[in-house]
Amino acid sequence: MANALEPSARALLKRLWHDHLAGHRRRIAIALACTLGVAATTALYPIVIQQSFDRYTEGRHDWLWLVPIVIVAVTSLKAAAQFGQAVAIQSVVLRVIEGLQNSLFRALTRADLATVAREAPARHAARFTTDAALIREALTKSISAVADALTLVGLVISMVWLDWQMSLVGGLLYPIAVLPILKLGKRIRRASGGMQERVGEAAATLTESFGAARVVRAYRLEGAEEARAAGLFARLRDSLYGIARTRASLDPMLESLGGLAVAAVLVFVGWRVSSGTGTVGEFTGFVAALLIASRPARALGSLNAALQEGLAGLARVYAVIDEKRRIVDAPDAVALPPGHGRIAFAGVGFTYDGVPDAALTGLTFAAEPGQTVALVGPSGGGKSTAIALVPRLYDPTEGWVLIDGVDTRSVTLASLRDAIAYVGQEATIFDDTAFANIGCGRPGATRAEVEEAARAAAAHDFIAALPDGYDTPLGPGGSRLSGGQRQRVSLARALLRNPRILLLDEATSALDAENEALVQQALARLRAGRTTLVIAHRLATVRDADRIVVMDRGRAVEQGDHAALMEQDGLYARLVRTQTFG
Ligand code: ADP
Repeated sequence: MANALEPSARALLKRLWHDHLAGHRRRIAIALACTLGVAATTALYPIVIQQSFDRYTEGRHDWLWLVPIVIVAVTSLKAAAQFGQAVAIQSVVLRVIEGLQNSLFRALTRADLATVAREAPARHAARFTTDAALIREALTKSISAVADALTLVGLVISMVWLDWQMSLVGGLLYPIAVLPILKLGKRIRRASGGMQERVGEAAATLTESFGAARVVRAYRLEGAEEARAAGLFARLRDSLYGIARTRASLDPMLESLGGLAVAAVLVFVGWRVSSGTGTVGEFTGFVAALLIASRPARALGSLNAALQEGLAGLARVYAVIDEKRRIVDAPDAVALPPGHGRIAFAGVGFTYDGVPDAALTGLTFAAEPGQTVALVGPSGGGKSTAIALVPRLYDPTEGWVLIDGVDTRSVTLASLRDAIAYVGQEATIFDDTAFANIGCGRPGATRAEVEEAARAAAAHDFIAALPDGYDTPLGPGGSRLSGGQRQRVSLARALLRNPRILLLDEATSALDAENEALVQQALARLRAGRTTLVIAHRLATVRDADRIVVMDRGRAVEQGDHAALMEQDGLYARLVRTQTFG
C-alpha cells in the first residue's frame, strides 16, 4: 500500500517517523511483538478447528481431552496479546500526538505576530484538537494495520496448508478489491481539507459569539447570531456528510467482495465434496479462516481512507510548523549595548501585508533618555503600529528604529525585548498565581523582589489580603480582581522587569477615582528614569509629556511640547479643545 502513496505523502510520513516516531523505537517494538502474537494465535484457529473436526469425524478418541485445553490456551494467549497490543499502540500514538502538539504550540508562540494575527485564535486552537484526532486515528489504524496484515499472512498460510487449490480461488479475487479502495482514499483526503476548514470556522465563530455575550443581549442580536450559527452548522454538516458518504460506500463494497469470495469457495467445495476429495475438517477449517480473514481484510481496506485524512491533518500541522519567520536575529546580531534608552525613529515607513495603504510614512522623532514622548492623534493614525515596531513585533518596511544608536534589527531579539516593558490598555493577567503573574516580568526574580515591585505598584496590600496571598490563583483573565487591581498587577510586572524603555498604551476607560489615583502613582514610579513612549488618551499625560508627536494617517504632522503646540493652533490644539486624543 505504501507504494500507492504520492511522493508528498511519503515525505510527510518520512518526516513524521524522523521527528516524532523514531524516538519511540522500544515502544514500537513492544507493540509489534504483541502484534506478532495476535497474528500467530489467530492463524492457529482454523488449524485447531480442522484438527478437532477430523478427530471427531474419524472417531479417534485419543488425546480428545486436549482439544478444549488447546482452544482455551490459544484464546487466552490471543487475549493477552491483544491487550498488550492495544496498550502499546496507544502509548506510542499518544506520545506522537503530544510531540506534535508541542511542536505546533512552539511554532505558534514563536511565530511572527503577523502570522498569528492572520487567523482567529480559535482556528489555531482547533488544529490542536481536530487535526490531532485525525492524525491519532490514522496512526492507530496504521499500526493496527501491521497487525492485520500479519494476521492475514498467517491466515493465508493456514489456508494454503489446509487446501492450496481453494486458496487460489480466494486469492484471485483480491486485486479486484484494491483499486476502488485507493480511489476512495484520494477523494476522502480532499474532502477532509474542506471539513477541517469548516471546523475551524465554526470554532472561531462560536468563540466570537460567546465572547460577545453582553453585546448580543444588549442589542438583542440573538436571532442574528442563531442564523449565523445555523448557517455554519449546515456547512459543517455538508462537509461531514460528504466524507461520511464516501466512507459509507467502502464497507458495503468490501462486504460484497467478501460474499463473492465465500460464494466462489463454497461452489468449489461442493464440487470437491461430490468428487470425494478432502476432509470435512479441512473444509470447515478453510471456511473458518476465510471468515476470520474478513475482519482484518476490511480493516486494511479502510486503512487508506483514515490514512488520507491523517495525512491531510499532518500536512496542515506541518504547514504551520514550517511557516517561515521573518523577524529573526540577524546572522551577526549582538546583544543590545548598555545605554539609557534613547529611542529614535528615522524615516520609518511601514505597510501591513495585504494592505495597499502605508500605516506609517516617513516617521521621524526621538525620545531622549528618561523622557516621556506622547503619541496622540485620531484613531487609525498609526500610533499602535509605531509602538509595535520598537520590540520588533513588525519590522519597518523603510527607515530605521534605533535604540541607543543601534538599529533594532542588528541586535538579538532577546536582548532587545529584555530592555523593554509593555503595558497595554487591557491588563493581561494569566490564569496563574499572583506571584507568577508579576514574576513573569523577570524570570528568576525572588519573592522579595516580586513583593517590592508589587509595593511600588500599590498592589501589595490587596494581594496580601487574598486567601493565599501571593500564591492565590487570579482566575482566568484575572477574574478575581477589579479592573484597577489588574492594571496594578501588570504595572508591578513591568516594574519588576526594570526595563530601560517603557511602552504604554494608556487605558481609555476611566477607573474609579481611588483606583485611578493609585494607578497614576504606580505609573509615575514606573516611568521615573526610563524612556517612555505612551499612546496618550488623558490630557494630563499629554500635558506632562516632554514631547508630543501628533500622528495623522501615518505621518507625524506636529511635534513639540504642549505649550508650543497650542501656540501653533493646529491639529493638536483642536484635539485638546475637543478632548479627543484617539
Ligand atoms: P492608531 O493606534 O493610531 O489607532 P493603528 O496603528 O492601529 O492606529 O493603525 C494604523 C493603520 O494601520 C490603520 O489604517 C489600521 O487600519 C491599519 N492596521 C492596524 N493594524 C493592522 C493589521 N494588523 N493589519 C492590517 N492593517 C492594520
